[in-house]
Amino acid sequence: MKTVFSGIQPSGELHLGNYVGAIRNWVRLQESYRCIFCVVDYHAITQTYDVKDMGRRVDDMVVDLLALGIDPERSILFVQSMVPEHTELAWVFNAVSHMGDLERMTQFKDKSEHQPDNINVGIFTYPVLQAADIMLYKAELVPVGQDQLQHLELARRIARSFNHRWGQTFPECEPLSTTVPKLLGLDGQAKMSKSLKNHIPLSVFGNDKALWKLLGPAKTDPARVTREDPGNPENCNVFTMHKAMSPEPDIEWSRQGCSTAGIGCVDCKKKLAENMQKHFAPYVERKKEILGKPGYVAGVLRDGAEKARAIAKQTIGEVREKLGLWHSP
Ligand code: SF4
Repeated sequence: MKTVFSGIQPSGELHLGNYVGAIRNWVRLQESYRCIFCVVDYHAITQTYDVKDMGRRVDDMVVDLLALGIDPERSILFVQSMVPEHTELAWVFNAVSHMGDLERMTQFKDKSEHQPDNINVGIFTYPVLQAADIMLYKAELVPVGQDQLQHLELARRIARSFNHRWGQTFPECEPLSTTVPKLLGLDGQAKMSKSLKNHIPLSVFGNDKALWKLLGPAKTDPARVTREDPGNPENCNVFTMHKAMSPEPDIEWSRQGCSTAGIGCVDCKKKLAENMQKHFAPYVERKKEILGKPGYVAGVLRDGAEKARAIAKQTIGEVREKLGLWHSP
């Protein structure tokens, strides 16, 4: 069975964009692969953050991951900083990574432009730690979106350089591309994101009023000035959510109704709200169960780190031997 590795930054409670863009796929991948899911807190510290919030952000995210269907019996779920071999391998990989390659990374260039006061070395070498995250488990497949393809290509290059210098050790991982529907933000912006405050947090599911408070005022196709004006659903962020969350007949109902002005935006949003509540009902129940079991999340993360560490130690042992480092006779 092939190994899949995927990491996520501990941003706290998940939102609909995270679910549709990544986690729903992770849940499915568990059927066919050995999956290793990592909350990458060492990556997160390259940005400014509130120290007293970090632990809670990890906990909230893990509760959501488990409630959404990440199964700790089948997959390994752990926090990056609990497995120190990640940073150890990243250091080794620094020795086969090139400044020019790192300077070319689009994400680094974007961050340097937008936050010129906080360009720490961690942001620069972020993709090296990412390569270590993957290679530590010799993962063959990595689910990635378009924005991460460049980092993955660099990880492959790092593995190649290591193998060339010290002998065949790491597989060259492949991207596992899945077509996921693209969600726009509630304000119609190109991306649903917590930092843009245009997201639907998963915590509103199970609470009709809280969901409607967000969905009710959500932007729609500007062509629909009145209920009588037909629109183009492809210009509407609510329709992107229908495509991601509603059954096919309801998507068609929305498409037809919008373009012929047969339905109003309120009808359309109500149908979407209904479908989303139905979809997330098992998540709401499971979350209640998890929160009712004190210590459960900590136990899952401890077990996950133990399993991850067993693999990581083996890889690092092999790496140390290949590098010819001193070891106790
Ligand atoms: Fe969007 Fe639905 Fe209104 Fe059309 S009817 S603009 S798809 S909310």
